Amino acid sequence: MSEKRTEISDLGEFGLIDHLNEKVKLQNDSTLKGIGDDAAVIDAGDHAKVVTTDLLLEGVHFDLAYAPLPHVGFKAVAVNVSDIAAMNAIPKQITVSIALSNRFSVEAVDALYSGIRAACEHYGVDLVGGDTTASRSGLVISITAIGEAQKGQITYRNGAKENDILCVTGDLGGALVGLQILEREKQVFLANPDMRPDLEKYTIVTGRQLKPDARMDIIHELRELGVVPTSMMDISDGLASEIFHICKSSNVGATIYEDKLPIDKQTFDTAVELNLDPITCVLNGGEDYELLFTIDQKDFEKLEKHPDIHFIGHISKAEEGKFLVTKSGTAVTIKAQGWKHF
Ligand code: ADP
Ligand code: MG
Repeated sequence: MSEKRTEISDLGEFGLIDHLNEKVKLQNDSTLKGIGDDAAVIDAGDHAKVVTTDLLLEGVHFDLAYAPLPHVGFKAVAVNVSDIAAMNAIPKQITVSIALSNRFSVEAVDALYSGIRAACEHYGVDLVGGDTTASRSGLVISITAIGEAQKGQITYRNGAKENDILCVTGDLGGALVGLQILEREKQVFLANPDMRPDLEKYTIVTGRQLKPDARMDIIHELRELGVVPTSMMDISDGLASEIFHICKSSNVGATIYEDKLPIDKQTFDTAVELNLDPITCVLNGGEDYELLFTIDQKDFEKLEKHPDIHFIGHISKAEEGKFLVTKSGTAVTIKAQGWKHF
């Protein structure tokens, strides 16, 4: 007798989440948003709470050969705060769960927590609990973050509408390029342990990979300027993949312009050095933790002069599809490669 077996890779990460979500029935009126956005949204009376969780595994999400433990701790908090920011909410509390193999000492856990505490201070969040257990395969960190916002301020992935302007913060592709450099230097070191890696030239891109900063600064600025994006998410899997999410959730299309895509000079130069196409790094690199959002045209003037917000394109009708207009003026279909976990 043969039982049906479907490979997880047949569905992919997002297909698997959709598959699980199909059978989930929400039972409580206080659950304003369940699976399917950067964070869940829970009614808390006069305001809403947002909740998100992320799991980081040694060897999958970080490599202690080049990631210092304090950085791993900081990043584990930052990636959760980034999902809270993506809802236009303010992070308030986190819980931290860790699994440790006997390779780790108290000093190592202290180093990890020094980064966690630094991030708590940086983002103004309280560490309020967690869990500790043993692991057979290195270090595992799971963080849950809770944030708050007024109900009318929460931004979902599904609010983009035709003619809205697509915006991204900061610059993109750096974290992917940084990872390639760290991997290359690790291989050089493994081949010849006397070689001291020369990373001086690459500090911006390696920093983007090792110690990303969630864009809470932008969330506070949007509030001060009185702008509520029509949709928003953070860029953890790559710009192209996130544009697909916004378009699918909002049932819209999008056009973006190659010459508007923000890339840092060091990211560009290092990509070229590595024989990578810089624009591919911008479109498909993961882990930049910048924000992708859409605004109504009436808000454009309020953000127009912002030095760190880039207007990369606009929202169109769903049937118009998703296009990148290249520097030479050709419209090419965007493919959502993103970061594949399976
Ligand atoms: P992000 O990249 O913003 O962290 P994900 O792609 O990880 O978002 O998750 C998308 C949505 O799917 C979120 O609402 C998340 O809570 C939900 N999700 C992810 N994995 C699971 C799971 N195993 N069970 C239930 N919900 C999940
Ligand atoms: Mg997210």
